[in-house]
Amino acid sequence: MVDLYGQYLKIKEEVDGGIAEVLNSSAFINGAQVGRFASNLAEKFGCRHVITCANGTDALQIALMALGLRPGDEVIVPAFTYVASAEVIGLLGLTPVLADVDCETFNITAESIEKAITPRTRAVIPVHLYGQPCNMEPVMALAAKYGLYVVEDNAQSLGSECRFSDGGTKYSGTIGHFGCTSFFPSKNLGCYGDGGALFTDDDALAQKARMIANHGQRIKYHHEIIGCNSRLDTIQAVVLDAKLKHLDEYNGARRAAARYYTEALGEVEGLELPKEAEWGTHVYHQYTIKVKEGRRDALKEHLAKEGIPSMIYYPLPLHRQQAFLSIARKSGDLHAAERLCGEVLSIPMHTELTVEIQQKIIGGIRDFFK
Ligand SMILES: *Cc1c(COP(=O)(O)O)cnc(C)c1O
Repeated sequence: MVDLYGQYLKIKEEVDGGIAEVLNSSAFINGAQVGRFASNLAEKFGCRHVITCANGTDALQIALMALGLRPGDEVIVPAFTYVASAEVIGLLGLTPVLADVDCETFNITAESIEKAITPRTRAVIPVHLYGQPCNMEPVMALAAKYGLYVVEDNAQSLGSECRFSDGGTKYSGTIGHFGCTSFFPSKNLGCYGDGGALFTDDDALAQKARMIANHGQRIKYHHEIIGCNSRLDTIQAVVLDAKLKHLDEYNGARRAAARYYTEALGEVEGLELPKEAEWGTHVYHQYTIKVKEGRRDALKEHLAKEGIPSMIYYPLPLHRQQAFLSIARKSGDLHAAERLCGEVLSIPMHTELTVEIQQKIIGGIRDFFK
């Protein structure tokens, strides 16, 4: 599904040199490289504050903690997403309210969010799934109307841009009160272990999130609030800084590979290909097709026989996950989320795809539908 080794070879010198420096300095935790990476990230995305942390799930948890949400508060989240988006809500004793998504974009919409709002709603977590941003202009307008916090789950879409009706653009993850991302190795900007970050333009929220990620302290051993321990390793910051310079190029390679798939598979009957919404750029964390007439699993099996990997992101909507049965509330019947779980199939998508590899994958898919 990914080729991290091939990508590493192209930046090996810089990465190896940077890691050797960390080893020689022994500043494994909070080395100067961590702060340097955070400021480079903030500058690249035009955001006032970046707080690095241990992983994307922690970033979401820290954001909800910094907003001061309390047990019983409701947080709206899509029913079709990776578990982490909703897990942190449950972990903090808040109530996840599962909203349906749009079948075309796989994302939550202002309409589906509005249906899920109650007097207890305090926040919404729009997830920019597979590399494509939610339509954030109406989401932000709705949030302002109802006084809701917006925490963007941008783990899959770092580098995608949202367009606004005034002609302006903003990077996904820099629009809500917080934007959270993950540097898991296979993400669009991935390190060689775990990592994550929060983005915010709000000075007070930034300070609070920074404290929470560091045991609730501003001054060492003076703990003002309950926090957690969530840090980005210096070695990972070095890897990320080297890769950040290539992020646009990486996302460009993903977009080019997606174009190639879309052109080659456009005429295959029984398939629906990903569509690009007019309000944003798609950075193709995944290239996810929809397989009609209940043939998804058969296609997956056929591809596996040909040595072509594929993955189902995600086989179950959150309201069918045992962990959420007793704590989540469903908003409506969540038809789209249900349907997508039975139809989606992600095929190999990464920065090192060649025409030859893509032709093999395309051939395997065409073969099945012949
Ligand atoms: C990867 C991912 C996360 C969590 O990131 P980790 O770094 O693995 O904790 C959260 N949300 C979504 C949508 C993700 O894809």
